[in-house]
Amino acid sequence: MFRRVLLFTPALAFAQAPPVVVASFSILGGLAQQVLGPAATLNVMAGPEVDAHHFQARPSHIAMLRGAAMAIRNGWGFDGWFNRAAQAANFSGVMVTATDGLPPRPAQRGPGTHSHGPNDPHAWQDVAAARHYLRQIAAGAARLNLPGAAERAAAADARLAVLDAWVREQIATVPEARRVVLTSHDAFGYFGAAYGVRFLAPQGVSTQAEPSAQAVAALIREVRAQNITAVFIENMTNPATLNRLAQEAGVSVRGRLYADALSAPGGPAPDYEAMMRHNVSLMVTAMRG
Ligand code: ZN
Repeated sequence: MFRRVLLFTPALAFAQAPPVVVASFSILGGLAQQVLGPAATLNVMAGPEVDAHHFQARPSHIAMLRGAAMAIRNGWGFDGWFNRAAQAANFSGVMVTATDGLPPRPAQRGPGTHSHGPNDPHAWQDVAAARHYLRQIAAGAARLNLPGAAERAAAADARLAVLDAWVREQIATVPEARRVVLTSHDAFGYFGAAYGVRFLAPQGVSTQAEPSAQAVAALIREVRAQNITAVFIENMTNPATLNRLAQEAGVSVRGRLYADALSAPGGPAPDYEAMMRHNVSLMVTAMRG
């Protein structure tokens, strides 16, 4: 009898549907997938190529959170709409805030910039912060007793340690004075601080504020004076301002950086690691000249 009970219990556990986990946006979802594996069903609210700054949760998005066992948000004002969706869904599961415990970087407040909170929310662009995200997600998974999550988190962390070293090696191939990048919005502050690259952006940490003509003119002067060649648009930001700025400064746009959203599967940035390798490769080639 005792023997039969022992054999029966795990079978029962497998018969249950895996718990549902909801991540607020695609980059977080990509990291969560690595930790959760087959132990949970993952839904992502603001999917690939979607601007999560100003996402509008529809009833179908709110329904994702109904009965979900865990929800994962970035925090620092990036995905406030996710909190409102959780409230609307009467979400009562485990809420993971990926940035909890990280030192925040204050949002830049230059001319023409605009932000939604005191902290720059784009911490994931520093691989060390993404490793913190993995730890936060793993802690949430542990509260749900998700099998294999700790092992998968450790393996993902080891991959990110390799990635971090690779980013440093790549940046080191660019002469220090050339380590400047101009991009659409101020999403790379953590990247810049971690890897020693200066970023210029006509738009602040948000993506909707229109930069002033004065701020754009100042950037054009800076691009010319410093012979900046690393000029990029972003995957989820309107490229109009940046394209105009590049044209007036007489430089060419060198491609699309993945700032706040992954690409669709099959694109150049379907997961976090691919996104970082894509961005860094483009930046390094363009910074060299
Ligand atoms: Zn952003």
